[in-house]
Amino acid sequence: MIRATHGACTHIGRFRRDNEDAFVVVDGLYMVADGMGGHSAGEVASALTVATLKDAYLIHADPNTKPGLRTPEQVAEAIALANTAVFVEALDDPSKSGMGTTLTGIVVTEPEKNAVVVVNVGDSRTYLWRNGEFHQVTKDHSHVQTLVDRGAITPAEARVHYQRNIVLRAIGIDAEVHVDLFPLTVENGDRFIMCSDGLVDEADDDEIINEIRLQERPQDLAERLVQLANDNGGRDNITVVVVDFEIVATETDIAKNNDVAADPGAENTHSTTTIATAPSTESSTQSSPKPSTQSARRTLPTSAFARLRVAATTKINSAVHHRRAPAVAIVAALVAVITVIVAIISSL
Ligand code: MN
Repeated sequence: MIRATHGACTHIGRFRRDNEDAFVVVDGLYMVADGMGGHSAGEVASALTVATLKDAYLIHADPNTKPGLRTPEQVAEAIALANTAVFVEALDDPSKSGMGTTLTGIVVTEPEKNAVVVVNVGDSRTYLWRNGEFHQVTKDHSHVQTLVDRGAITPAEARVHYQRNIVLRAIGIDAEVHVDLFPLTVENGDRFIMCSDGLVDEADDDEIINEIRLQERPQDLAERLVQLANDNGGRDNITVVVVDFEIVATETDIAKNNDVAADPGAENTHSTTTIATAPSTESSTQSSPKPSTQSARRTLPTSAFARLRVAATTKINSAVHHRRAPAVAIVAALVAVITVIVAIISSL
């Protein structure tokens, strides 16, 4: 069974006027989003996306045993819902037209099987540090990545390319979004690092690896990597989320869970938790941790979530319906005319 310890840090950088990055960290859900769009719309897109995912993850959870999203398909559905939320928000408010956000991170889907799903839309990244080797799990949906794939430029050239900010996929830009899903089995000692491009544009792999080796605590690593990006220029917002996974014996774990459950005071005392228990109330977005009671968490987001889903569905249906109305009317009229003619002919 998986046990996770996480750390997270976000910073505006040295030149930007707003921080359009967002992250969410709850037990079993670790995401980074990098918003884009004028007039602070990027902030709305990234914050709305991680908030929607958090609701989707928490409200479907069984308080005793199961995380909220159990399969890659359910993860994809939750991301589709976030996409709809941002897309509809942009339809509602012309000042937010065209806003969008990248999204990458990890969802623990089956802790008892050590199963997680890494997701990606855009050019934020999820890395895996396993057995002393550094892997980039995600592949950027960016213009420079296509140039790298074609052999036109090297990855090192991509980092400083003048078109490195062109993203080919993002949440909220269109009515539908295509998400990359990477189902993985976690191994003991795995360390995942999620980050916005504000880190990778400033720090190369060797610098990042050096910090991974030096920093034992996930929180220290997240803060050090943000510091590194700022030291190297800090031209963009920087966000880093780090998760360390341990594999623990199941029987021991169940016993420990029971102990924790029997002692209400034990909750929230430590950032290390076993994910198969209810997602702990320790959760945070980029602003501040918002502890909530068990009942509040299970009722409030549910209704908000349901309202969002209904509103989103209605809005899209009405938008689609409106666009198709003239064509539908013409077809209906033709069918009516043909029916009348056939009736007249057959009555002769
Ligand atoms: Mn960025």
